[in-house]
Amino acid sequence: MKYPTLDEADLEARKVFLRADLNVPLENGKVTDDTRIRGMIPTLKLLLERGASVVVASHLGRPGGKVNPEYSLAPVADVLEEIMGISIAFAPDCIGAHVDSMRASMKPGDVLLLENLRFNPGEEKCDDDFARSLAGDAQVYVNDAFGTSHRSHASMVGVPRILGGGYIGLLVQKELEAFERVLTVGDEPFTLVLGGAKVSDKIQVIEHLLPRLNNILVGGGMAFTFMKCKGLEIGESLLDVERLEAAGRIMSEAERRGVRIVLPVDVVTAPSLDAADRAETVPADAMPRDGMGLDIGPETVREFGRVIAESAVVVWNGPLGVFEIPPFDKGTTAVALAVAEASDKGAFTVVGGGDLVRAVHEAGVSDRIGYVSTGGGASLRLLQGMELPALAALKGART
Ligand code: AMP
Repeated sequence: MKYPTLDEADLEARKVFLRADLNVPLENGKVTDDTRIRGMIPTLKLLLERGASVVVASHLGRPGGKVNPEYSLAPVADVLEEIMGISIAFAPDCIGAHVDSMRASMKPGDVLLLENLRFNPGEEKCDDDFARSLAGDAQVYVNDAFGTSHRSHASMVGVPRILGGGYIGLLVQKELEAFERVLTVGDEPFTLVLGGAKVSDKIQVIEHLLPRLNNILVGGGMAFTFMKCKGLEIGESLLDVERLEAAGRIMSEAERRGVRIVLPVDVVTAPSLDAADRAETVPADAMPRDGMGLDIGPETVREFGRVIAESAVVVWNGPLGVFEIPPFDKGTTAVALAVAEASDKGAFTVVGGGDLVRAVHEAGVSDRIGYVSTGGGASLRLLQGMELPALAALKGART
């Protein structure tokens, strides 16, 4: 592993600053999905077993640098207490004299959860003084917040710089191992499945992976920019005019390298997002001028399925339709099944991004996917061949 792991850390009687991703959904002050909390439990347990006391910090939502009780981490402390079966102290702020005294009285085995980091404008601005206060009396920094590791925020890069580097937690380690496997694919048949709305991020992924890829399956809103580029009528579907040229360039480069790009051969259209009752499937070359393409059609699902079944490695980012609104979830669900079947037969499959995590969960196949990545933005950066700033900071020298 390119980054220091906890195997190398001296933790006995040390105070650890653990940056976790506890950005969970809340409803009426209750946590509605505890997946992210459970995600960091193995790291927290390991730190405590090895004799540390642990200050846990996270953001929740986008309070914009202001205190907003709606985004308090207090309900997370309750869930954490339940899962861990130990008492978890909760600090009413993330920095300040009161928090410092709570930290100062901690003993090995104690856990203190700080209030939402983003209640302070210093977090997103990566303010140095704020980072120093956060680091406080901590001796060891651990990053287990993979989904935020592409952000240069105070708790992600400022604190490890101040503490002279740090370690990746077990969740980040698992994420990195999965992506390392993908980024070093050799001759095995390798298929990239892309969907979602934004074209720009994914074009960079294609560019980086192209030399290793055999197939690229393009669905979701982004497919229409590629289809338009091929001269097809796309009606009122999503179009990124500024990326038309890049889409064309990618398609010729793929052809030159013998990489197959599969675009939808049929599309589910509707006059608008709220006219699901008027959804119809049309061939990709017969889209109505006043229709919006909102999902891939069944023939495309079969075609994608055939390619996926022949792949040894499959990486998927972005839903293939507006999966939040039935019936436009059908394509994404069907392809999730195809990916799960490929995994069952031995393919290494990685699915990334918040939307897809939900989609594969709803399709009931999360357990059958090789790796379900929690970080959309962070995983895209890795697939673009970039180093995540928060991970780079773990190697940083003491300032
Ligand atoms: P991204 O963050 O780029 O992966 O985009 C995810 C979003 O893309 C989801 O909210 C989907 O609803 C949306 N999406 C997927 N397919 C389409 C489509 N055909 N038209 C419009 N939006 C889409």
